[in-house]
Amino acid sequence: MPLVNTKRMFDEAMKGKFAIGAFNVNNMEIIQGIMWACKEKQAPVILQISKGARKYASMRYLHALINAACEEMPGIPVAIHLDHGDFDTTMKCIDEGFTSVMYDGSGETFDKNIENTKKIVERAHAHKPFVTVEAELGKLGGIEEDVVGVGADDVEKHLTDPKQVQEFVKRSGCDSLAVAIGTSHGAYKFKKAPKLAFDRIEEIGRLVPNFPLVMHGSSSVPQEFIDFVNSYAVLESKNKKMLEVALKQGWEQMPGSMGVPEEAISKASKMAVCKVNIDTDLRLAMTANILKVWGECNAELLKWIEGGKQGSRPKFSFDPREYLGPAREAIRDMVARKLDVLGCAGKAGLFK
Ligand SMILES: [Zn+2]
Repeated sequence: MPLVNTKRMFDEAMKGKFAIGAFNVNNMEIIQGIMWACKEKQAPVILQISKGARKYASMRYLHALINAACEEMPGIPVAIHLDHGDFDTTMKCIDEGFTSVMYDGSGETFDKNIENTKKIVERAHAHKPFVTVEAELGKLGGIEEDVVGVGADDVEKHLTDPKQVQEFVKRSGCDSLAVAIGTSHGAYKFKKAPKLAFDRIEEIGRLVPNFPLVMHGSSSVPQEFIDFVNSYAVLESKNKKMLEVALKQGWEQMPGSMGVPEEAISKASKMAVCKVNIDTDLRLAMTANILKVWGECNAELLKWIEGGKQGSRPKFSFDPREYLGPAREAIRDMVARKLDVLGCAGKAGLFK
């Protein structure tokens, strides 16, 4: 299936009460891991590219990798989406083969945000093929790359005003809207479990019926993965003193991390939320599994030393395939889990 925009995806998601997963991609292992999960689960998907990813991998490579995945998995609808574009980057990406773009004007005044979004919409909708536009209204929490939001304690104070949504959508003509409803970017989101503003989602749904909303910063930062990282990370330390302190005091590599509960994401997916952005959980799964490979190497080595160096010295995994392979499988497993949370498993068949 050739790349598609998000119009049909969101129509189906709204009708079927599910959400499409939007996962950030930076390299081959991440793209393959995501696409394998989508094939296994028969789910449509949005592969999204941030400014940082464009810089890291370059569009030439990302396009080639995504095209290869589409050729290999023709039954899976795929949209290639720009994540948090500034005005100039968004304009450029419309002509660069993106099927969907996000213009983030949330740092502008309400009127300037509308004015810029409208210009983007005019260009994107005139483009052949039609490019869909996501806009943003309200202030999200947390930090992701160069997108800096409000602090964790202030998330609930900066929620999107439903009445403004109505005016924004009407005047800008955007196809979907990222709203602040209690989520936050990054791994260090909340000190206590957050409450999503379901009442606001409902009110927006009443004021602007059947309009697709987008939830950013919707990783759950599962505790078992934090424990996973914590159990291996310190074994990598070259600093003897740090290792000593860590072993004595019970070191935590990622203290105080907490995300959005998966049940809340499932509930929002059944409402007007049609796209859910998940990046942190994939990073976490990938990194935890790389650390596991090295941590196990070190554990074997320690066992060998303590056993009086009997037999041959355990080998160290310095072949990148030995840690990137398991990392890619970890991405696949995490995405498969998320596709179930979003309710979009089995929905690829709707697009035939
Ligand atoms: Zn975001």
